[in-house]
Amino acid sequence: MDITEQKQNDIRRSKFIGVVSHELKTPLTALKAYVQMLSNWAKKQKDNFTIGALTKVDKQVRKMLNMINSLLNLSGAEAGKIHLNKTEFILNELIDEVVEETLFITSTHSIAMAPCNLIHINADRDKIEQVLVNLLSNAAKYSDKSAPIEVACATHDETVEVNITDHGFGIAREEIDKLFLPHYRVESKETEKISGFGIGLYLCSEIIQKHGGKIWVESEPGKGSTFKFTLPLN
Ligand code: ADP
Repeated sequence: MDITEQKQNDIRRSKFIGVVSHELKTPLTALKAYVQMLSNWAKKQKDNFTIGALTKVDKQVRKMLNMINSLLNLSGAEAGKIHLNKTEFILNELIDEVVEETLFITSTHSIAMAPCNLIHINADRDKIEQVLVNLLSNAAKYSDKSAPIEVACATHDETVEVNITDHGFGIAREEIDKLFLPHYRVESKETEKISGFGIGLYLCSEIIQKHGGKIWVESEPGKGSTFKFTLPLN
């Protein structure tokens, strides 16, 4: 009886999160468009103060949109329905876009992209974007401001493997298995002041598994981590 009630509460909470995040997304998307419009106008006027202020607004709006997208995906994942909307696209182009976006939001890090063959893939572009955004923003979030980040990809027989390496805090061996569970966050001295919902990696793993790929991490405390995922090429 208790379990049924608990489940119903979970479903209600999940639906609530879904509705609220959907409602928040519409005005934020409009806000983002207006900020960009104003920014173009300020550039024409050569008004440096306004350009600087709008750039900061734009960064915060993008961060909020990323969080809302995660919450939207969370409610879908919890309801057991991550729907994939697959299209053909070039993975390298998506990675470049996300790297640029991450650099814009977290400007203190450097992100190096290792040379990689052109990779055509059939997958849900928005969801793979979400995975890359989560992994890259975590790489920035859980390392010192100036620590470099590296992105690499390689194709094996029938899969592509993407690696995102940071030189940050790293993760203790006993935490690694729990990282991909919903709402799990590592509690340590380094991470206590860093905020988050603990859902990013859970969503990444749901999205990658739904595509028939794998996601895992190799890490050494104090040295850094490499998050790796694969996707089937066909
Ligand atoms: P959030 O970042 O919101 O806490 P995530 O699900 O993205 O949620 O990550 C779960 C936990 O895994 C984080 O709280 C953090 O402790 C750890 N983590 C994720 N990425 C990294 C990383 N690149 N380096 C070190 N720890 C990480």
